[in-house]
Amino acid sequence: MNDEDSPQDTIFGKIIRGEIPADIVFQDDTVTAFRDISPQAPVHILVIPNQVIPTITDVTEAHEPLLGHMMTVAARLAESEGIAEDGFRLIVNCRDYGGQEVYHLHVHLLGGRPLGPMLAS
Ligand code: 5GP
Repeated sequence: MNDEDSPQDTIFGKIIRGEIPADIVFQDDTVTAFRDISPQAPVHILVIPNQVIPTITDVTEAHEPLLGHMMTVAARLAESEGIAEDGFRLIVNCRDYGGQEVYHLHVHLLGGRPLGPMLAS
């Protein structure tokens, strides 16, 4: 079954495959990073695995190298975006209460201004 036939396919799958446009800032064999379409801070980048993992609770030990790579990519992007020294935030939302909208695992990299308290309410 091709990815695009999978019921797990999302808008992010289309971005990875280049089927819809996105401002991709990094891509390799396992990870893609692109600017969020609705940025919540001056820098708002999504770091996602190229394979579909719907939520963080779907990961297994086999995903650990991939998850580590996502963190490394996020850290390097924070540096290249010039927000590493002042500080930034990484967020992974999970399902309903976590506010997850797209069911393809992603890490939000947010920075470029003071981000305030961790939770809005
Ligand atoms: P979530 O709420 O699932 O943690 O975050 C999903 C994020 O994906 C949101 O911040 C939303 O703005 C972003 N997003 C949704 N659709 C698109 C899209 O088509 N392109 C890009 N670049 N970002 C998207």
